[in-house]
Amino acid sequence: MKRKAKKLWLQIFSPFLLLIVLTVFIFIFFSTQRLSKFYTDQVQNDLLDRATILQTQLLQLPSDELPNFCQNYKAIEMRITLILNSGKVLCDSKINALTMESHSNRPEFIEALQKSYGSSIRYSQTLNTKLMYVAIPLSDQNKNILRLSVALTAIESSLSVIIFQYLVAGLAISLLAGIISFLLSKKISSPIEEIKSMAGKIAGGHFEHSFTDFNNEEFQTLSEALHTMIQKLKAFESMRRDFVANVSHELKTPLTSIKGFAETLIDDDSINKDERIRFLSIIVRQTDRLSEMINDLLNLSKIEQLQGEGQIIFNSHNLRDVAQSALEICANKWIDYNPELINQIPDIKLNINHSLIEQALINLIDNAIKYGGNKCDIIYQKTNNGHEVHVIDNGPGIEPIHLDRLFERFYRVDKSRSRELGGTGLGLAIVKHIMETHNGTIQVQSKVGVGTTFILVFEI
Ligand code: ADP
Repeated sequence: MKRKAKKLWLQIFSPFLLLIVLTVFIFIFFSTQRLSKFYTDQVQNDLLDRATILQTQLLQLPSDELPNFCQNYKAIEMRITLILNSGKVLCDSKINALTMESHSNRPEFIEALQKSYGSSIRYSQTLNTKLMYVAIPLSDQNKNILRLSVALTAIESSLSVIIFQYLVAGLAISLLAGIISFLLSKKISSPIEEIKSMAGKIAGGHFEHSFTDFNNEEFQTLSEALHTMIQKLKAFESMRRDFVANVSHELKTPLTSIKGFAETLIDDDSINKDERIRFLSIIVRQTDRLSEMINDLLNLSKIEQLQGEGQIIFNSHNLRDVAQSALEICANKWIDYNPELINQIPDIKLNINHSLIEQALINLIDNAIKYGGNKCDIIYQKTNNGHEVHVIDNGPGIEPIHLDRLFERFYRVDKSRSRELGGTGLGLAIVKHIMETHNGTIQVQSKVGVGTTFILVFEI
């Protein structure tokens, strides 16, 4: 089963929103991390400074006064502890030192014994808060340790206020960005939606849809292209209708005549032999016309089909040979009339489809003789950007008003005369089509009373 396609606006909107929310929260995470590091570094440096000050005082005291030192600082918030290098607590400003266990396992103590100072942040069970400890050795000789510590609660609570504010701001930014990207995605997708509905209507055969003006260049171009396409479809549709109407009409005429004569032959016993033969030959002629017309129609649609499928094969052929075989076929057809048919084409190779160009030439040569010429010359001319083949006759010529429409399907200068001569009105339309498949054109020049020249133009 086909997966249901997602709406375009959602496809634009959701990654945008995700990106914004991610960015905002990653920013909050890293900046609070940095902020808390900055604060604790501050506190640590501060404690180190104080420890250095106290160290100077302590070094001046006689060693028997050391156990009383911490008593002086009972009231201040900072906690002071003196620890012997064995880990035994000498004094503490908050707690009675005698009740305290050995501090030899405290990380800041161990670090201070090895380096110039030690520090640690941890939860104090004794005081029930999170503390920052900083310890320094009092002197290089005996390595007794001075340890200072403060509660981090104030910092923690102000940090949590900041994080809360960040979160609120982050949510507000995400919401705002979400709204903006929602509106934006709607704005981007709405013209596409509109074009989609337009295309849907066109697909349903409703060509009368009016076109919206978009204020966006790309969509405007797209909309105009659709508009042009519709115009072409309309034209194509009306051409198709005309063609079907024409074909029906053209087929109906000989059929009516066949039916009429056949019915007369059935109904009327009094018809004599001569008349019967006349009627029957009319029926045969009309049947020939019908089959001719059907042949031409089949030819036309075959060329169209092959062209549509890109299946027409072009090869290098000697133009003179192609013209010669067309002339021979026509000479054979007009053998009783024996017109003068002259091939003046030199040996020149062109990339063409042999049978199509031969067919085009047959149609032109046949017309030349059919419409009154008794001579037909075929000549070649090289032009600046290609080649030309001229089919020249000495027939009656064609009035200028007809020249523009001559290549339309079923167009005839003199309907009844063309019919009489067995014309279908499709010969020149076929030639035009053949030339289109060769990226060429067909032109006509005619002078009443002098003759007509049809020119096949091949462009390189
Ligand atoms: P048809 O089957 O009627 O000959 P065409 O498409 O071949 O159809 O020609 C269209 C019309 O052009 C013809 O009916 C005829 O009146 C005119 N025509 C074509 N070729 C010539 C020509 N060489 N000389 C005079 N008229 C011509």
